[in-house]
Order: sequence, then structure tokens, then C-alpha cells
Amino acid sequence: MNLQGKVAIVTGSRRGIGKAIAIEMAREGADIVISDISLDECNDVCNEIKTLGRRSLAVKCDVSKRKDVENLFKQAKKKFGTVDILVNNAGIYRVIPLTKMTEKEWDLVIDVNLKSVFLCTQSFVKQLGKKKGSVVSIASIAGEVGFANSSAYCASKAGIITLTKELAMELSPNIRVNAVGPGPIRTPMTKFIEKDKKALKGIVAAIPLGRMGEPEEIAKAVVFLASDNASYVTGQTLFVDGGWVSQ
Ligand code: NAP
Repeated sequence: MNLQGKVAIVTGSRRGIGKAIAIEMAREGADIVISDISLDECNDVCNEIKTLGRRSLAVKCDVSKRKDVENLFKQAKKKFGTVDILVNNAGIYRVIPLTKMTEKEWDLVIDVNLKSVFLCTQSFVKQLGKKKGSVVSIASIAGEVGFANSSAYCASKAGIITLTKELAMELSPNIRVNAVGPGPIRTPMTKFIEKDKKALKGIVAAIPLGRMGEPEEIAKAVVFLASDNASYVTGQTLFVDGGWVSQ
């Protein structure tokens, strides 16, 4: 197992990609802190992790709030000691044309998607001290190519890609920092696309591999980057997107 004996925090992990990452990491031997803005479904994920023979803990945390983030790390330390791996996964998507975008909506998307990476990584680094650790953040193809009506989302994800490079420089050699950039993945976030057959057809036609991805396909890339198998990889964003950004 690639993460035997490690402790990981996965934000936004009660469902979707975060849940798949938490379960894949547990399968690879890690104990997991599940955290989300709501505790609904968190206990189900914890139980699934326990059936894999690993320990787990659920902590309610709004990743855009410093107090919540500090409490998350405090609870994690109390139960498991040092946290070795941080997965910055929590995120929100808003489809709003530029002229209709309010300052409040802009700030919310930037705070939840990008400021959270700063807050969580800062707390992670402080509790790690001189120990070795690994950070993986979930960016998006929207941070690499433009998506209409998604200004704040695109800016937040591009910010994660650049912040990943900066943190890799600042935190070397003890902490590796990488990101995964998913293409369209089948989760509750993209249900609205799947419901609109015409939109779905258009999106699938734009993907060289001809289909949307599954959360488990993102989870496997995250486990690779978090593990010692990626011991010489830092500052990278690995696009897991069926070929979208390579076109
Ligand atoms: P999801 O199904 O909506 O799951 C995201 C989880 O994060 C939800 O449980 C959500 O809770 C939670 N969350 C929202 N705001 C939060 C906050 N302030 N603090 C803590 N948790 C919060 O989305 P997903 O598709 O799994 O997406 C996971 C990550 O992948 C996101 O960063 C997303 O941008 C990225 N991504 C997804 C896709 C895709 O196609 N699905 C593509 C590229 C990138 P609520 O349900 O209450 O909002």
C-alpha cells in the first residue's frame, strides 16, 4: 500500500471527488479526516473507511473561514497526531455572466476555491514542523482554458495552478506541492450538465477520450502525487481530463 501509516485531511469529502479521494487513500493505507461544510453523509464515508480497516474522523469545516480551518487541524491533531497529507478539494462552481456577477458571488467563489488553499496549507505547514509532507490541490481545466460565464471559477482555478508552483518553491525540500486538474467528472456538481442532453453531447464531443470522467479516476492521480511514488514531483498540475487541454 502506497500511503501506509499516513494521516490525510481531505476537504469537501462528504461526496463527489473528495469522497472518492478519501476512500482511495484509505484503501492505500491512510487514516482519513473527512471534512465538509455540512456533516450530512460524512458519517457514511467514515463508516466506509472503517470497513477498509482504517481510522477516520469527521469534522465540520467551512474552508473559507480561518477559525474553522484552525479547528479542523486541532481536531485532527487530537485524534491522529501529525497530518502528513493535505488534499485541498472543496470547491464551488457558479455559472454567471460577467455583467450579472455580483461582488458577493465573486468573493464567495474566490474565498471557497482559492483563499481556502492558502488557509489550509498554512495550518498544514505549521502543524507539520520539520516533518515531511505532501499537498495536493484540486484545480480544473478551467484554470488552463477559458470557460464562458465562469469568470470567478476560472480565476480561482488558475490561481491554484500558480499558487501550487509558488508553494512548491517556498516549501521545498520537505513538502511537495502538486495539483490535479480534472476535466468534466460525473459528480453532484455536474448533474446539471448530465440533465441537459444537448449540453452533455456538446461537452462529450469536446473530449478526445469521448466521455466524462469518474471521481475514482481523479482519486488515483491524487494518491500518486501524494505518495512517495511521486517523490521527485513538485509544483506540477496533472490534468486528468480525457485529453481536453492537450488539443
Ligand atoms: P461536489 O460534488 O459539489 O463536492 C464538493 C463538496 O465540497 C461538497 O460536499 C460541498 O458542499 C463542499 N463544499 C462547498 N463549499 C465548501 C466550503 N466552503 N467548505 C467546505 N466544503 C465545501 O463537487 P465535485 O465535483 O466533487 O468537486 C470537487 C472539486 O473538484 C472542486 O474543487 C471542483 O471545483 C473540482 N472540479 C470538479 C470538476 C467536475 O467536473 N466535477 C471538474 C474540475 C474540477 P455543498 O454540497 O454543501 O456545497
